[in-house]
Amino acid sequence: MIIQLAPEITSDQREALKTQISSLKYKTNEVRTQIGEYIIGIGKEKFDVRNIGHLPGIKDIHIVSDDYKLVSRKWKVNQTTIDLGDGVLIGDGHFALMAGPCSIEGEENIVKTINHLKENGVQIMRGGVFKPRSSPYSFRGMGIEGLKLWYQLARENGIKIVTEVMQVSQIEEMHDYVDMFQVGARNTQNFNLLDELGKVDKAVMIKRGISGTIDELLYSAEYVFSGGNEKLLLCERGIRTYERASRNTFDINAIPILKEKTHLPVIADPSHGVGIRDHVEPVALASTVAGADGVIFEIHEKPEKAFSDGQQTLDYEESAKLIRKMRALRELV
Ligand code: PEP
Ligand code: MN
Repeated sequence: MIIQLAPEITSDQREALKTQISSLKYKTNEVRTQIGEYIIGIGKEKFDVRNIGHLPGIKDIHIVSDDYKLVSRKWKVNQTTIDLGDGVLIGDGHFALMAGPCSIEGEENIVKTINHLKENGVQIMRGGVFKPRSSPYSFRGMGIEGLKLWYQLARENGIKIVTEVMQVSQIEEMHDYVDMFQVGARNTQNFNLLDELGKVDKAVMIKRGISGTIDELLYSAEYVFSGGNEKLLLCERGIRTYERASRNTFDINAIPILKEKTHLPVIADPSHGVGIRDHVEPVALASTVAGADGVIFEIHEKPEKAFSDGQQTLDYEESAKLIRKMRALRELV
């Protein structure tokens, strides 16, 4: 069960509430987020919600049978909107595009990307400065100095930043220079990282694990939410299957399933999802029709020269065409 507490609840009322929940053989977990306060009751016994619902200090109470609670749509029926500031909204009808290079490569690369985004009305730029690479000898990103440079140029141009945080120690140094933290597919179940991101007042986009189930992704989101941060987005980026014809198997099913299970916005990443430049567009368009709240994709002025993931990166002409088509499709559906 989820009990949303009234802001004016007294400590006596809180104790009475907890005693009542314990008497139902439910374990109580208190959650305080930047937006509200909740008591999460965990238990199996059936009970009459009216036995608790009448107690003073309760704003709302819901029975949520899912193992994840706060991210469940059984609790919050209306979709969540993520507000990045300056009118940049994601979710509940606000379709968000996020594009940029796999890795931030330097000033020229940043400026060219920003210009392309502005020409096409895209408000959020992606890019990695800390890169998880399969080989330690691959380019591992420009680091915090690259992020600071990027931030300065992005701010001057009204562009928001989404970038991957790989470990707890990076959160603080990155904090002032990002609009949205990305949790990468290799870190979806890094529970320490998720706990710490719960304390952050910035949006967090969690990617689905390489071999992660949909429910595991939702549990990861529950970590951040119950840690205090409700500004959450989920991202389907393809999973590892026996198929070798594509880099990953983009799970289109995950989009409508996630939309049914959670109130959080669902973003599609067709670039990593298929991993093949020529097929990014159809997968992006399919995701748009499937109900994604946004699409994140990799672009570069010269994909064949990109420091990482060039094989799945669109050039600006392909990007502009894709953006036009996604917007047209959104109108249609
Ligand atoms: C990325 O976005 O560049 C990235 C590394 O993504 P993922 O964690 O999905 O592999
Ligand atoms: Mn990449």
